[in-house]
Amino acid sequence: MLAELRKEFLYGGRALVRDNALSQRLVRKLRRHEAMDGEALQALGDRLLHRSLQAAIRQLPYYARITPDFAPHEARQALRELFPVVDKSTLLDQPQGLYPNGGVKRPWQALGKTSGTTGTPLTVFRSLASVQMEQAFIKRHWTWGGFADGMPRAALRGDMVAELERKAPPYWFENRYNRQLLLSSRHLTDACVDAIIGKLRDFAPAMLQAYPSTAFTLAQQLQRRGQALDIPVIFTASEPLYPHQQELILAHLGGKIMDMYGMAERVAFATQCEYGSLHVNPDYSHVEILDQHGEPTEGVGQVVGTTLHNLAMPLVRYRLSDRTRWKPGRCACGRPFPMIEPVTGKLEDRITGGDGAEVSASVLTFAFKGVEHVRKSQVAQVGPGQWELRLVPDHGFSQDDQDKLLHNIRHLVDPTVQVKVVLREALPDTAAGKFRWVVNEWQDGRRT
Ligand SMILES: [Zn+2]
Repeated sequence: MLAELRKEFLYGGRALVRDNALSQRLVRKLRRHEAMDGEALQALGDRLLHRSLQAAIRQLPYYARITPDFAPHEARQALRELFPVVDKSTLLDQPQGLYPNGGVKRPWQALGKTSGTTGTPLTVFRSLASVQMEQAFIKRHWTWGGFADGMPRAALRGDMVAELERKAPPYWFENRYNRQLLLSSRHLTDACVDAIIGKLRDFAPAMLQAYPSTAFTLAQQLQRRGQALDIPVIFTASEPLYPHQQELILAHLGGKIMDMYGMAERVAFATQCEYGSLHVNPDYSHVEILDQHGEPTEGVGQVVGTTLHNLAMPLVRYRLSDRTRWKPGRCACGRPFPMIEPVTGKLEDRITGGDGAEVSASVLTFAFKGVEHVRKSQVAQVGPGQWELRLVPDHGFSQDDQDKLLHNIRHLVDPTVQVKVVLREALPDTAAGKFRWVVNEWQDGRRT
């Protein structure tokens, strides 16, 4: 009972901060940016970038020597010429230079934390205004999927809403303040999933927020039962969304998937529109795609972003290990926001085949073509040209399935790679309840 009250307080309190009138006003303002012409949008970006760079020079010793006398229309040029590219290790090495107030958070600032799935977690200070802006950007994306405040929504992510040992429903928590159903993704097991499916049918959410891996697991369970749900839109985020996941999710969960790409550092935000294009939100942050020499590229490069709304601690030209490329042209949706190719994974998790060339995650999915009886899988690079294919077998898994996998890899993925199939009882999620489908565990493979 006490735990229930605590949840009411936690999620109810969150709802009060997030769903207030100010937030609705911000969303309306952001929606107007979608109708701007290229020139007006550029001017808006210049103004916001100028404001952010000025705040960085003023507050962060790392930039103290940079002259602040440039105008908004010169902000992009100043950024490229005066500001070096930094990354997580720069922040960890030089906190005195890159954190405001000597690295001491002010009481009115919020603390953001990266999940640390790949190495040391990082904290950033956030202004309250930037926390509210973040929510407004997410809600703007929701409007692209036809979702408006007040409609019922469900979430299937890392929320700890039911004890792991719990053996009877509810495996969820209903937040009455904003009609939100928070489901426990750790209970998508054979023993508990029927109750979760039933609850979703009754609740009939207008949208589901999920990780690609949790939505995929639910879709697999529905497939096994010969069932389907009809959720109008699934908003995925926080992990790469692979084609094999997309297909099954669409077949068993709902009408459309709208993916969202973002990170705790909040230096880039891209949102999938009704036409499936991934649009960089240029009013959220200033995004560059740079090659290994730090030069802008039309090819595949690393995402480098500058925050536009967190004036408490601007991150300037912050390089992520995510890789993608610009997609030329204009989207049929008409929004003036630039497009990128899907962000398929982290630099440190790319894996290579027998000849040392990179094998993309979408090619890896061919390994599973026509293979049944696999509950969960993970592909790990464990040495040069050596992969471990980890499987959680389902009932009925046989040598035939294993042979088919190896055959597929030889013929459809890479003929020279050495693959070892390892059967596992479970493949654990990270502490945040996320799952990495492709991992590189070979240290030398991290050289770039
Ligand atoms: Zn579009």
